[in-house]
Amino acid sequence: MSRKVALQELESAVHQAFESCRHIEGGQNAHYIPYLANVDPSLFGISLCSTDGHIISVGNTDYRLGIESVSKVPTAILVLRQLGAEALLQKIGADATGLPFNSIFAILLENHRPSTPLVNAGAISACSLVQPTGNPEKKWQAIVENMTDLMGSAPKLIDELYRSESTTNFENRSIAWLLKDYGRIYDDPELSLDLYTRQCSLGVTAEQLAVCASTIANDGTNPVTGKPLFDAALSPKILSLMASVGFYQHSGDWLYSTGLPAKTGVGGAIIGVVPGLFGICAFAPPLDDAGNSVKAQAALRFVMEQLDLNVFSNAAVELER
Ligand code: GLU
Repeated sequence: MSRKVALQELESAVHQAFESCRHIEGGQNAHYIPYLANVDPSLFGISLCSTDGHIISVGNTDYRLGIESVSKVPTAILVLRQLGAEALLQKIGADATGLPFNSIFAILLENHRPSTPLVNAGAISACSLVQPTGNPEKKWQAIVENMTDLMGSAPKLIDELYRSESTTNFENRSIAWLLKDYGRIYDDPELSLDLYTRQCSLGVTAEQLAVCASTIANDGTNPVTGKPLFDAALSPKILSLMASVGFYQHSGDWLYSTGLPAKTGVGGAIIGVVPGLFGICAFAPPLDDAGNSVKAQAALRFVMEQLDLNVFSNAAVELER
């Protein structure tokens, strides 16, 4: 017998999470990207999108935040759609690094492989794999169109954030050229780095990200637009990437304490996916030492506990429709 979760329960969990977490202090905005350092640290919002397309939002869920590393998930999906699961494994990898998002050490430890598309090295490599090779305009178009399909509406580049990142991304530049030396960049390195920087600078709302997460939960069909986007067999692949490295060096601790495959970004957003039920996004700019939003973590943990959900549990749970 499976337990059914009603929409009202989801609604109440999201609102309670907001109330109980809104006064949490601690953490600081990403200080190494000037634009993000100046974002209002009191912003906070939670959006949940059920797999039948209902959206529940509370707080600043229509604020246009910098997507940052959450963009690594849509672009990994694009590579999976364009080249398939085996190519992603062979050309990038699907390993946890246990190290910070921009670690060069991780590349060396993995025998010169980028490890996973969900850390900087693998994400730059993923941008290099996006088709058509050698055509920056068409590659960018593919990245934006894929994200638009997943979210059900278009992201918008935050020019100031893009400028801010482009003039300070020296570590990512080193990573791109190191990977080039190891044969792990499959297009021009500068072009691949620029695509990565630009995708990180896209402005999106928590509500858009919740729809994107729900598309993964819904086996590749956008629950709001009804558009089928990728093969259902790819959803578990995406979730395994998110589970193993979504919180960087804190991924194991996070998974152990919440049972929620999730992906963070230094813009303050975190997306989480409960297969078959919903996608969720919480957003608040101040981050912990690994670059994960302090308040958004607390909010997602609250929702999972409140609903008694854990993707590793054998309890069958389905949405009451
Ligand atoms: N654009 C950021 C960087 O490359 C993304 C990091 C993140 O969100 O974890 O440093």
